[in-house]
Amino acid sequence: MRKEVLETLRSVFGSDLQESVQMANFTTMNVGGPADALLIAHSADQLADMIAKVWAMDVPLKVLGSGSNLLISDKGIRGVVIINHAHNIKINTRSQPVTVWAESGALMINLGRQLALRGLSGMEWAATIPGTVGGAVYGNAGAFGRETCSSLVKADVLHRVSGRSDWTCEQLQYSYRASLLKRETEEAVILSATFELSGGDAQKIKADIDSYRERRSRNQPPGASMGSVFRNPPNDKAGRLIEAVGLKGKRIGGAVISPKHANFIINEGGARAKDILDLLVLARESVEKQFNIALIPEIEAIGDWDHLPEFLQTKPASKAVK
Ligand SMILES: Cc1cc2nc3c(=O)[nH]c(=O)nc-3n(C[C@H](O)[C@H](O)[C@H](O)COP(=O)(O)OP(=O)(O)OC[C@H]3O[C@@H](n4cnc5c(N)ncnc54)[C@H](O)[C@@H]3O)c2cc1C
Repeated sequence: MRKEVLETLRSVFGSDLQESVQMANFTTMNVGGPADALLIAHSADQLADMIAKVWAMDVPLKVLGSGSNLLISDKGIRGVVIINHAHNIKINTRSQPVTVWAESGALMINLGRQLALRGLSGMEWAATIPGTVGGAVYGNAGAFGRETCSSLVKADVLHRVSGRSDWTCEQLQYSYRASLLKRETEEAVILSATFELSGGDAQKIKADIDSYRERRSRNQPPGASMGSVFRNPPNDKAGRLIEAVGLKGKRIGGAVISPKHANFIINEGGARAKDILDLLVLARESVEKQFNIALIPEIEAIGDWDHLPEFLQTKPASKAVK
């Protein structure tokens, strides 16, 4: 980052601005080099204010939730990263149906737990997702037969061109593990989201969450990961395909394709982003060669890469208004 730009950021954000911060500390994979500059937002309004200021300076910006779906390069991220800790949750039991409003930095696990405590049903699956509401709305996170768009009513979105407004599910154009914001890399940030729930039996909701947790610990590996790295192709499983080409347990540097679930890559300690990238490329090429199926990544690779294969490149930011 140019010295003058850094000076301007320092003068605008004062002691809130952190410099040259290792992103490995902000990802579940524990991988990622330094971001030039980093801010932490503690409320949706503060997040909106920070974004507006960074956009006004025309400095590249990335907003992160829990970093649970990201591979950040070893060279890190040029520009400003905002870590979203805006985590307020408000349940409106007077509305029909009952709704919950959550700031986008609220953890899905906390949201799921709070709804379960009130005997509210529909988002039990969320209690097992290690990301934020913003990350879930962006990527249409889901599990156990449900996904974010099954319960989402609207999201409060700040768009670089069209400004701040409520977006409906139709406007977000959801598909499997994707939304318009993810597909088109719109310059837009989710500030909060509202979901609708139905009344349920608190004991059954708790039992369902417990069984989801148990299924996860039975089928998925522990350790530092990004969750499933590839989307399941139609009528098949990415994990089955990677296992079938013999890559379970394949190791490069500190990274290994999990012997328990081949769609998970684990950082067993000291893995570099490049090790993980090489495993992703190997898995994709091997599956394509043997089955003629081109796996699509569920995770995103961001930051400053020497060479990023096309299948991991995000489209350039569009200026399209919704
Ligand atoms: C062990 C494990 C299990 C997992 N299981 C599942 C699963 O069952 N189902 C599933 O769907 N996912 C799963 N995941 C992946 C991940 O938890 C989800 O994709 C989650 O929704 C990502 O949220 P996040 O806050 O971590 O987003 P991040 O990883 O921080 O960011 C991901 C992308 O979302 C964007 N983003 C984040 N917040 C905002 C915002 N407020 N506005 C705009 N864009 C934003 C980021 O810029 C980035 O492009 C798993 C991950 C792990 C590590």
